[in-house]
This record gives sequence, structure tokens and C-alpha cells, in this order.
Amino acid sequence: MEGKHYINGEWSTAGDGVINVMNPATGEQVGTVPNGGEDEATQAIEAAAAAFPEWSKTTAYHRSELLMKWHDLLMENKQEVAEIMTKEMGKPLAESIGEIEYSAAFISWFAEEGKRVYGRTVPASKEGKRIQVIKQPVGVVVSITPWNFPAAMMARKMAPALAAGCSFVAKPAKLTPLTAVRIYELAEEAGFPKGVINMVTGSASKIGKVFTSHPSVRKLTFTGSTEIGKELMKQSSETMLNLSLELGGHAPIIVLDDANIEEAVKGVVASKFRNAGQTCVCGNRIYVQESIVEEFSRKLQEAASDLKVGNGLDEGVQIGPLVDKDGYEKVAEHVKDAVDKGAKVLVGGDGKAENDSYFYNPTVLLNANSDMLVMNEETFGPVAPIMTFKTDEEAVKLANDTRFGLAAYFFTDSMTRGTYIAENLDYGIVGWNDGLPSAAQAPFGGMKESGIGREGGQEGLEAFLETKYISIQL
Ligand code: ADP
Repeated sequence: MEGKHYINGEWSTAGDGVINVMNPATGEQVGTVPNGGEDEATQAIEAAAAAFPEWSKTTAYHRSELLMKWHDLLMENKQEVAEIMTKEMGKPLAESIGEIEYSAAFISWFAEEGKRVYGRTVPASKEGKRIQVIKQPVGVVVSITPWNFPAAMMARKMAPALAAGCSFVAKPAKLTPLTAVRIYELAEEAGFPKGVINMVTGSASKIGKVFTSHPSVRKLTFTGSTEIGKELMKQSSETMLNLSLELGGHAPIIVLDDANIEEAVKGVVASKFRNAGQTCVCGNRIYVQESIVEEFSRKLQEAASDLKVGNGLDEGVQIGPLVDKDGYEKVAEHVKDAVDKGAKVLVGGDGKAENDSYFYNPTVLLNANSDMLVMNEETFGPVAPIMTFKTDEEAVKLANDTRFGLAAYFFTDSMTRGTYIAENLDYGIVGWNDGLPSAAQAPFGGMKESGIGREGGQEGLEAFLETKYISIQL
């Protein structure tokens, strides 16, 4: 597949050569995209700026119709788009299909929610005065998205931005741009006017610099690492960009002694092993109450042993490859570090990296402690380290002892203990007996160094709106 930029309603291959897109399950080339830079980013922003005045004045009903056409096209083509995703990023096909459905859910939800951008009137303190508050689209939005959810991270930015009346420029991840290209082809078919949606592929740092310095851009929405998020925040200070940053996480999972252990194991498997552990909301650290650790770890070991590893296009595969060599090496390093510091491997602990394909086996580690890398840094792999705790207070303290604050999970059937834990976790997303809390209609995002702002839900639309206060003296 030969991907192209989409700028001002035209497909283009401009740039400094191409980027080869590789399949991490086979080492084969899936296709190419142009290696764009400053010029393409500038053209895309200028196209978006030129399209904005007219687009922002269309009705929310009109924008909703276009979004729904795009939604329907995505659903009609979900198998094909999902196959592209599995080939370029490795996740099992069933998960890719799930991600397309999840992406489409953002589009339809925001197509509706865009009709409910209400302002308000406020009683004034002087006679003859009227106070109006109105909401308007922020303007040109640029987005930078990662490879682990090539469709959903873009859709959950693009759909609310368009619903709000903003024009949009996307830069998909280098490793997974082809899914985005196909989604843009479908958006073009849906009929968005030229310049309203644009996409450039290529050098992240060059495109990022233009995104954060061009005076026509009003908002940057980014999903990726905390490190790059901080860099973009610094760069954005020059133009005082409105920012939404969805950054790294280090999710704790707490299993209390009154939890339904079978359900907790299912929840942990869903949270930990989805996408081979390559999600920012993946459980990273599992804290299990002492009295049940033996039963829980045995059951988790059995569940992990049953997971089928392989090429995501093959029937029944549940764990695909890691996305690249760096990803594989990081996982192997985390496991080695844990074992060196006293962890016991219950299952896995090894993998196979050959011919540019990178498979790591689902791994469960017992006797983890707070000094291990796995307990402090995002592993981004299928590794489940288990550590024990005694009291609920200790579990919350351990869970909060991190600079991250994206997602946290816990399992208990007690309303009292669960309420205490939910209310004391310093996390933006909390799953209570739920390993998969993400939903289009719910606000997703982190506290602390996990970011700024929320995506999805009402907050996800608000992120693309400015508040204007109009004071009228009659
Ligand atoms: P991940 O570990 O998920 O790849 P990154 O933060 O490295 O997280 O990348 C997320 C996105 O940010 C990708 O699209 C990547 O190309 C982009 N990116 C990386 N470095 C920069 C940069 N200096 N400026 C702008 N974007 C960047």
C-alpha cells in the first residue's frame, strides 16, 4: 500500500523520500508513506486555516451528517481497515476490529454531542446589562498520535474537533500511518470539504516544530509518551497553544481478599494482555492481598499459559508481536531486572526475536518489589508482576506512589472498601471490577505526569471549544 499525505483535498507524495512501514509479525514491508517535513506541515496548516471560517459556521446538524457518513463507511470497511492495522502494528485481528468499532463509536457519539454545545445566560448585577456565555470552536487543531491505537487515538481527537467546528491536521505515528491513510480516504468519501481535514506523514520532530510554532494553529492534541509530551509543551509555550496531552501511565491493579478471584483474573488478563500489554492504560503492577496470593497467582498463571501467541492475522491468536526491536528489548530488560532482584517467573519470561519479528511470551512474575523497573516504568509488554500487601491503606499508598496518574484498577465486592479505594486513588480513570473501562462517552485522561485534559465524553468536546463571554449594556 502506498500511503500519501492528504492536504487541501489532494493526495500528495511530497517530502524527502519515503518511510517503509514494516509488519512486526513477519518482518515484511507492508507499504510506504512519504517522509514529509516542514513544507508539508505548513501547507496542511494553511489549508486548515483557509477552510476554518466557512466550516466553523456550518451547523452542527450538517457536521453531524458528514460525521455519520464517515462512521458508516468505517463500519462497512472495518474488516479491511482492521487488516491493515494488524499488518502494520501486530495486534490480533479481533482486537483491530474492536478498535475500528471503538473509533466509529467516537465518531457517532460526537456527531450527536456536537448538537449539544450550549452556552448560557447569567443574571447581571446591574439593570440594563445582559451576560451571555457562548461556546465557539477553538480553530485549527493539530494532532499527533502514537502507534499502539492507530485508529482510535486519531478518531477520538478528530471526531470531537470536527463536531465542534474546528479544522484538523493529523500526524499519525511513523510505525502505523497506513491505517490513518485508509481512514482519511473514507473521510474524503464521506464528503468533508477540502482543507477541513488534512494529514501529513513523516518526520515527527520537523512536523512537530511547525505544529507548535505556526501562528495559525490554536490547539495541539497529543497522545504519546510523557517525555515527548513535556517537549511539546515547552515548544507550545511560544504560541501559547491550547493543549490536550494524553501521556504515559503506570497502572496499578489491586486485588482485595474478598474479590471474586475468577473475575479478577479475567479483568487482569483483559487489562494486562490486551494489545500484548502495549497500552497506556495497561495494568503494570498487580498488588494482591497476602491471604489470596497463592490462589490468584496460580489462576493468573493458568490463564496466561492459555493465551495463544502468533501472527495477529492467524485464527485464534490473542497475543501478537511487540511493535519493534526497541519494544522487545525493553520488555526483556524489565524481566531480567525483576529476576535479578528476586522475582520468580511463573510462566513466560522469554520470547523470540528473529527476522525482524518480535514475539514475547505472556509472563507472570511473583515476589515483585518496589525496586524493580517493572514496578516503576511502563513495560509496554505482556508482563504481569505480582506483589503482596496487607491492608487497604497500604495498597492505596503503593498504588499512588508514582509520578503517573492515568488508569488504576481494583477488585473487591465490598462497597465500603471499594468506595474508599476509588476515592483515594490519584488516577483519572478507575476500573472497579472492570479491566476495560474505556468508552466513547466517558472522559479519558490522566492526572499528574499522565497529562492534561480529557478525551471522550462531554469533556472531550469541551476540549475543542473556547468560552466567550459577551457583556451587553442595553
Ligand atoms: P510512543 O512511545 O507511544 O511511540 P512517542 O511519544 O515516542 O510515544 O510518540 C508518540 C507520537 O509522537 C508519535 O507520532 C511520534 O512520531 C511523535 N513524536 C515523537 N517525537 C516527537 C517530537 N519531537 N515532536 C513531535 N512529535 C513527536
